[in-house]
Amino acid sequence: MKKQILLFFTILFLTNAFGQREHYWQQHADYTMDIDVDAEKFQFKGRQKLIYTNNSPDELHKVFYHLQFNAFQPGSDMDIRLQSIPDPDSRMSINEGTRENPDYKSRIAALGPDEIGYQKIQSLLQDGKEVDYEVSGTILIVNLNQPLQPGSKTTLEMNFDGQVPVHIRRAGRNNQDGVALSMAQWYPKLAEYDVDGWQLDQYIAREFHGVWGDFDVTIHIDKDYVIGGTGYLQNPQEVGHGYEDPAKKLNLPKGKKLSWHFVAPRVHDFTWAADPDYIHEKVLGENDVELHFFYKNDKPEVVENWEKLPEKTQKILSYFNKHIGKYPYKQYSVIQGGDGGMEYAMCTLIAGGKNFGSLVGTTAHEFAHSWFQFLLATNELKYYWMDEGFTQYISASCMNEVMDQKKELPNSNSYNGYFYLVKNGKQEPLTTLADHFDSNFVYGISAYSKGSIFLSQLGYIIGKENLDKTLLKYYDDYKFTHPTPTDFKRTAEKISGIQLEWYINYWINSTKVIDYAVDSLEDNSITLKRIGSMPMPLDVHVVYEDGSTEDFNIPLRKMYGHKPTEAKVLESWPWVKETYVFKTDKKAVEVKIDPKNLMADVNRENNQVKKTE
Ligand SMILES: [Zn+2]
Repeated sequence: MKKQILLFFTILFLTNAFGQREHYWQQHADYTMDIDVDAEKFQFKGRQKLIYTNNSPDELHKVFYHLQFNAFQPGSDMDIRLQSIPDPDSRMSINEGTRENPDYKSRIAALGPDEIGYQKIQSLLQDGKEVDYEVSGTILIVNLNQPLQPGSKTTLEMNFDGQVPVHIRRAGRNNQDGVALSMAQWYPKLAEYDVDGWQLDQYIAREFHGVWGDFDVTIHIDKDYVIGGTGYLQNPQEVGHGYEDPAKKLNLPKGKKLSWHFVAPRVHDFTWAADPDYIHEKVLGENDVELHFFYKNDKPEVVENWEKLPEKTQKILSYFNKHIGKYPYKQYSVIQGGDGGMEYAMCTLIAGGKNFGSLVGTTAHEFAHSWFQFLLATNELKYYWMDEGFTQYISASCMNEVMDQKKELPNSNSYNGYFYLVKNGKQEPLTTLADHFDSNFVYGISAYSKGSIFLSQLGYIIGKENLDKTLLKYYDDYKFTHPTPTDFKRTAEKISGIQLEWYINYWINSTKVIDYAVDSLEDNSITLKRIGSMPMPLDVHVVYEDGSTEDFNIPLRKMYGHKPTEAKVLESWPWVKETYVFKTDKKAVEVKIDPKNLMADVNRENNQVKKTE
């Protein structure tokens, strides 16, 4: 009886907390970690206490953790994947052949025992008692002593040893810029259990998915190291390094090391980087969010670009606040580290910085991920197109404004990439799991380009204003949860009043393409033709003999509605019909489909007919 009452109140609470979804639940994990770093050996010892709350309706007999540093070992799934994929990441492999006849060698295969990465569990307790566990690659399987009942909590305590690998991908020691420690995916991290079950992918360097919770992390490291990362520093006067309040006295401890105490509420990851030669700069952004910058004090041409970055980052923050929703944390850090750019909780690791435009572009992209994947924490192993694609779309629009690029279609590159993939004949549906594409090339265009077009093309279908409202409402309703494609689709449907199931079905679940054509133009009779198998609504621009023009909109019947438009809305076009005829009042001399090029029509050559005398 007691349990039933508890469950009732839990469900009542969750229903209110997760507004839009009546039966939605999500797990919760609170971490307390104490980490002692041996910076010289690139090793660390960790103590971790995890309080895990089972909000699911299921009794759990096992729990699982990710041990992602174990991927950086010869023979790991990541290593084998590098040896079998046709186009391995150039950061992770060495080409011993030529450009024409490549012979790729995995860098992981060559790592020695003191160069590999690992997380070794030394002890593990459930509620104070030893518990049975086994390691399978990058997954730790824990057979609980006591099953975890719905609505109850358990405490898991472990001691572990870690070694930071030679920098291969995302994390490691001495990255390409010489940053000592890039600490991403570095701690034993509880796997997510959701409505689809346990999410247990072996780590092969792509995306991640985690459990929402609060982090309390203390890192002990040699005094000269500066740390940037997730979380608010609790003891700035005992650390200094640019975190301190200059008006107050520093209170540095004696001894070789400093203890950095961070707290991060409501996140699903904790990442940090450390280097003895970091410059640490701090500026305030909109709503008094502290923007921190950490970059190496070595190459003047790189330092110069990082010095100009804070002002742009302030603008980037304002742009996303306005167009997606208010950034809810008090801090964000742009940290030189990692390789390329990668998003984490309240921070990003970005390598390089020789080119200012690309440094700003990468910052805009990674910061946008704070909304699209971090706060709107879709499972990016499944719905990478909502992660990379939405980020690509919004960061391209942001760059257009912040860098004053004056592009009519900010994500036009996404269209070019997609057309290239279609021509290549290697398209795979966006239901393919992120790790399982046949090549990195196809994954990249699918996630970034096709995902970004998903939004701009949605704007074409429901109207740009409705798209803008959808993004704001989606964030408002689903932040701090794990939304799915259906959640986004339903938001767009409710905002626009237009049915969109067909759009997800064609664009995401299939590789069917869009190709419409103007079939004929006879005085005041226009015949349009659907050649590709994906149906769409059409915007049609007509020029008359007298020089005047008229715009038409032909909704797809399956939409059961149309976007708000100044154009003359014609009768809807059922997808089963291949041709569509309409009459104009005056004699037409020119017809053009989709004059703004928002529709990803794979053959635009046939979109226009012009009568010449
Ligand atoms: Zn990204």
